Amino acid sequence: MKKTILAFAAGFFVAIGLVVFLALKEAPSTPKGDEMMDVYYPGTEELGPNEMRVVALGTGMPNARPKQAAACWLVELGNGDKFLFDIGTGSAERLSAMKIPYDYLDKVFIGHLHSDHFGDLDALWIGGVVANRVTPLRVWGPSGQEEKYGTKYALDHMEKTFTWDIAGRVGQTDTRGLFLEVTEFDYRAVNQVIYEENGVVIRSIPAIHSLDGPVSFILEWNGLKFAFSSDTYPNKWFNEFAKGSDLAIHESFAPPKVLIDKQKFPPANALNVGTQVHTSPAQFGKVMSAIEPRMGVAYHFFNDFDTQPLVLEQIRSVYDGPLALATDYMVFNVTKNDIMVRMAAIDEDIWPEPSVLGSIPFDPNDRIPFSDFMTSGRVFYKDVLTKLYEDINKEYGTSIPVPTE
Ligand SMILES: [Zn+2]
Ligand SMILES: [Zn+2]
Repeated sequence: MKKTILAFAAGFFVAIGLVVFLALKEAPSTPKGDEMMDVYYPGTEELGPNEMRVVALGTGMPNARPKQAAACWLVELGNGDKFLFDIGTGSAERLSAMKIPYDYLDKVFIGHLHSDHFGDLDALWIGGVVANRVTPLRVWGPSGQEEKYGTKYALDHMEKTFTWDIAGRVGQTDTRGLFLEVTEFDYRAVNQVIYEENGVVIRSIPAIHSLDGPVSFILEWNGLKFAFSSDTYPNKWFNEFAKGSDLAIHESFAPPKVLIDKQKFPPANALNVGTQVHTSPAQFGKVMSAIEPRMGVAYHFFNDFDTQPLVLEQIRSVYDGPLALATDYMVFNVTKNDIMVRMAAIDEDIWPEPSVLGSIPFDPNDRIPFSDFMTSGRVFYKDVLTKLYEDINKEYGTSIPVPTE
């Protein structure tokens, strides 16, 4: 009897052990590389050496809203390079969710100088420094019909606008990232190379929108081609040079009927803005039919349950190829063999990643001192400050002197 119980117990434990072994063997591993999940979790997937990842960080209209910021697209390449195309109002917040150290987010290409395409440049520029970028911000953008309509003029004045902000940071933090390197190129240049480094070539073509000056961009790397219209009326340059793109992102503004019904535009304004200043969904469909991309991406409309059917119907009336109707946090993984479209899952509690290059200590002697007037207003709570400094020095092994007044 005893033997039977022992044999039974042994069999039982062997069976349990087998179940545990099989469970362990079949437990899913953390996805990375080509083991992708249906949702993109920023910071968890290495790009393959021949892979391009494009993330929609702003797909909406000029007035940013919680669901959609204004224009911004992040392009990440398997060689480690990262590029931003437009940085419209509200998009810097989306960019922060990508968990990328700001040192890598130092190359911005601006298609034109509407606020919904570069309205968050200041947030990336100065916010990026506060969030650990120690490299200058490099910006490429077009010239204009006159000097005052060009990118350089706009950014010179942006720097002037933030004169107080910059002055107050000197001597308080590592400010190397506050330098702006602006490359302005001729907006009329057709398929001109404006960037060529590390096997990546970016070209500019003219775009037709509002006023002379706007451009569209074409990035080519490792046999992959990415085209981005920024804003434009349908034009011959995009139709010629974006042909055969792997990913072609083109504006598809809210249909005139939506502008009239939901945004209360007078019909004449809706037709002008929706089809002459911008490209309507049906015009977008025509452009896609002309260039035949591996994936056509429509953006620049409020993508909701009650707008999407009409947008889709108008595009599909003239284009039957691969299509994505973009919304913020849509992610495209592009390789020679496949284009995967997913949504990213966002961590609302994100903090900036540390600088990959490391910051250098600030020199308090560089500070612009307060006037005697301001200094005379300081109230010195010696007891609590002494405790704070002593606690920090003790915990972190430092010997920072307690301020004396
Ligand atoms: Zn515009
Ligand atoms: Zn726009």
